[in-house]
Amino acid sequence: MIQRKITEAELRLFGFCPKLFEFNAMIEYKNEMQLACKEMIERFLIYQLRNGNNASYDLVIPTIIKESVRRAYSNHEEIEANGLRDLATKRLNSWFNDYINKFRINEYQVVIGPYNPKIVISQTAIELDVCGILFNTKTNTIHILTWFNEVKSIDPLWDLPSVAKYYFSQSYTDKEVVIHFLDINHRNTYSKEFSMYIKSIPGKEFEEESKLFLIEKVKEFENYSNYYRIPYCIFYECPKRKECQK
Ligand code: SF4
Repeated sequence: MIQRKITEAELRLFGFCPKLFEFNAMIEYKNEMQLACKEMIERFLIYQLRNGNNASYDLVIPTIIKESVRRAYSNHEEIEANGLRDLATKRLNSWFNDYINKFRINEYQVVIGPYNPKIVISQTAIELDVCGILFNTKTNTIHILTWFNEVKSIDPLWDLPSVAKYYFSQSYTDKEVVIHFLDINHRNTYSKEFSMYIKSIPGKEFEEESKLFLIEKVKEFENYSNYYRIPYCIFYECPKRKECQK
């Protein structure tokens, strides 16, 4: 019986520090270009689903990019004042070229667009965030696209939501699965260099230990007491440090 619910971002936060979770202090790094690229790819997948592989992508991509920049930059005056709109547009084009070279339209079919599958572990439903699922017609394999802002510093094999995505894939298909963790390569706001960062992990690399680790953490979440205090924390930049360590 499902007793608790948790989102992917909350689970990652709980895995990092239960106290931060208790303080409801989301610390995930938010970069406008990451938001824009995620938005763009999800819009593109929806377009592909609706229009198939014969659609005229050259015509629609500029509109998708324009709308993704608009959604990602909430402060429109700032992007105009700093000339960021043109730069952001160029960067999204560059990111998209990398994406389309990797996931060629004649080889990958979109099965589903942005999707929030739920996986139940113990008595907790975990809501996951998946950009899309593709089917490779040449290799007969399933490809799960997911955005992960911290993929360069955190190993997905031990990242709780990423492990949960692998176990979701096992309930979804019996075909071979590859999970692709997407990000951008440059975070500097004004850098002209820009490309896609991707880490692709075949499902078979997720080991049983990582599932046990996920189950253990979910049970910890279910039994977590708000009075638990973590001593001697070395995360000095923590936004809740004063409240936590007093
Ligand atoms: S100071 Fe450390 S233990 Fe306390 S909330 Fe922040 S990260 Fe967690």
